[in-house]
Amino acid sequence: MVGRMSTPSFADLTTIGVGGPIARFVEPDSRVGVIEAVTDADEKGLPLCVIGGGSNLLVSDEPFMGVVVRDARRTISVPDEVAPVEGADRTVHVNAEAGANWDDLVEFCVRLGLEGVEGLSGIPGTVGASVVQNIGAYGQEVGSSVDTVEVWDRKTLKVEELSADQLGFGYRTSALKTSMYQAPATPADEFFPTPRYVVLSVTFALRHSATGVVNFPQLAKALGVEVGDRLETAAIRDAVLKVRASKGMLEDPNRYYNEWMRDTKKPENVEAAFGGLYAATGSLDRDWNRHSCGSFFMNPQLTPEQAAKLPEDAPRFDVTLPDGSAGVKTSAAWLIDHAGFHKGFGVGDDAAATLSTLHTLALTNRGSATAEDVAKLARTVQDGVERAFGVRLVPEPVCVGIDLR
Ligand SMILES: Cc1cc2nc3c(=O)[nH]c(=O)nc-3n(C[C@H](O)[C@H](O)[C@H](O)COP(=O)(O)OP(=O)(O)OC[C@H]3O[C@@H](n4cnc5c(N)ncnc54)[C@H](O)[C@@H]3O)c2cc1C
Repeated sequence: MVGRMSTPSFADLTTIGVGGPIARFVEPDSRVGVIEAVTDADEKGLPLCVIGGGSNLLVSDEPFMGVVVRDARRTISVPDEVAPVEGADRTVHVNAEAGANWDDLVEFCVRLGLEGVEGLSGIPGTVGASVVQNIGAYGQEVGSSVDTVEVWDRKTLKVEELSADQLGFGYRTSALKTSMYQAPATPADEFFPTPRYVVLSVTFALRHSATGVVNFPQLAKALGVEVGDRLETAAIRDAVLKVRASKGMLEDPNRYYNEWMRDTKKPENVEAAFGGLYAATGSLDRDWNRHSCGSFFMNPQLTPEQAAKLPEDAPRFDVTLPDGSAGVKTSAAWLIDHAGFHKGFGVGDDAAATLSTLHTLALTNRGSATAEDVAKLARTVQDGVERAFGVRLVPEPVCVGIDLR
């Protein structure tokens, strides 16, 4: 167990930098320690929040009268190192403990010449949480590279190894995430704000290849290639980080100066992130556009009838809805912008929480915002989009003590 004298607040632990004080904070550094910390809270009936990088959490300003557990295990390894390349498809397995920083994993895989996660470069957070919401970007989703996930089942009190099939990955969701909700943005009675299944480690199945596929038009444009072309994974990672930086969709590396975040990401990768911050902004100072939860709203998935009511020029992509029927995905950013909420929008003058000045979909803390300020901005946007288009946006972050239905 990592020993500390005091406890942090959620403002210390989250990328958006808001949220109240925490009654009990534990950082187990062994597998059994994680299970014991979770079981102890569950047995006592205390609210439990297993936190990773705090990049997908919006927590209320009120004190959290429960236990926050942060897994301090961060080892990344290649289990079949003796015979690392398996079969004609050149599969290599990589295992990472849940507390490992996600981008440390991506950097490790790219350096080792492994293909499969390079498009997910720069997404903040941990390996443990990556599978909860099936992180995705630039044409890749983590679910496609997952072999198995080792979890602690808080209901059966057993360790289970779940296969990719059992994990039910979908657009920003998985069976882990659905165990937390009874309806969109509506917490389940039993397990919230942490799923029934606490992720202990993830084994990825990657491909031994120095090149990867460029799967996204914006990325292809930045690289000067066609969608579908193959390029070095290192070049793809570099381009993804630059495109993300230009939109402020990276975390601010300054957060690693906070004593509660120190040592949670490899120092050389924090240093590289400072290099990227300087290249993008010309300064090493805090960049408030990065004090966010990333995309705050999910892209709505609509029935054909709902989609028919959208303006003709609204973006439309064919998708399969969770019930298996054909549906249409539209762009939350487009709806927000066309409802009149442009980059930098805030409620009132000198608002402490505003939309990012670089990206309509990111709600940001300009330095002194409270969770209530962020919630007020979120509700204003939700109400405005609903008035304009009849679509209620669903938040992507896990909202604790804040109702954004
Ligand atoms: C600037 C920025 C850009 C982003 N870009 C993207 C993007 O491109 N694509 C994307 O998909 N997401 C993106 N995100 C969202 C976020 O980075 C991901 O959701 C990430 O996986 C969250 O990881 P975390 O460790 O920070 O989770 P946290 O915020 O700490 O937790 C989120 C949820 O996961 C649960 N959880 C955490 N660890 C575990 C565990 N070990 N077992 C079970 N449950 C756990 C928590 O209890 C909580 O319910 C972005 C966020 C930011 C701030």
